Amino acid sequence: MRLVLLGPPGAGKGTQAKRLEQRYGIVQIATGDMLRAEVAAGSPIGLKAKAVMEAGQLVSDAILIAMLEARIARPDCARGFILDGFPRTVKQAEALDAMLAQHRMRLDAVIELQVNDAALVERIAGRFTCKTCGEGYHDTFKPPKTAGTCDRCGGHEFTRRPDDTRETVAARLVAYHNQTAPILPYYAATGRLMSVDGMVEMDQVTTALVAILDQLPAG
Ligand code: ADP
Ligand code: ADP
Ligand code: ZN
Repeated sequence: MRLVLLGPPGAGKGTQAKRLEQRYGIVQIATGDMLRAEVAAGSPIGLKAKAVMEAGQLVSDAILIAMLEARIARPDCARGFILDGFPRTVKQAEALDAMLAQHRMRLDAVIELQVNDAALVERIAGRFTCKTCGEGYHDTFKPPKTAGTCDRCGGHEFTRRPDDTRETVAARLVAYHNQTAPILPYYAATGRLMSVDGMVEMDQVTTALVAILDQLPAG
């Protein structure tokens, strides 16, 4: 199964992609996580991407397209994947279609998580992650069951992204509306776009996604 999860920053793409990964045995490909790993490693891509990401802007299509192409060629993608954070421009969407067509593959579904801007700011400002296992949390909507301890791995260290500030969120939302939202009509025109209400609770969003995915024709 090959999926794209679309939606603005903070819509819940990462949260849901991790759940679908387990349920369907496919891999989550989160381009933001890949870029953060490049930044942490101080690689040439990381050096180019760091300031752009901190400003809440988009890293160049050329970098992202090359990165994605190398990633989906890896063997763990053979059973399928969930793209989280890619494509983010029409150019990336076109490159993805071309790359899949070359391997005689296609997307099975493109699903948009719909969340309004005011809710996104709250979600992003409260987001944090376990440093050890990567489990995602939220100050209000998903605090650890025991404060300061990761539910999943028992770790005690957490991180917040440098771009998850109220100021940067505004820039990221502008980038989403100007550069990423035009992907929606691109996919709608070929009848591949479905939308899910992302304003409801996490479990209800998962239920809605599973209802769509379980209906997809096998293959
Ligand atoms: P969020 O999940 O909050 O939307 P991501 O982790 O997906 O954020 O992305 C973080 C940052 O990484 C983006 O603001 C952008 O700078 C960069 N980035 C990630 N994916 C892409 C992409 N496909 N194209 C361009 N830039 C990207
Ligand atoms: P994205 O990957 O789209 O940027 P995340 O999955 O990281 O979004 O979610 C952003 C923040 O909002 C996280 O702190 C997460 O715990 C929280 N969150 C995700 N889905 C929901 C939801 N349906 N209701 C409330 N909070 C949510
Ligand atoms: Zn953990």
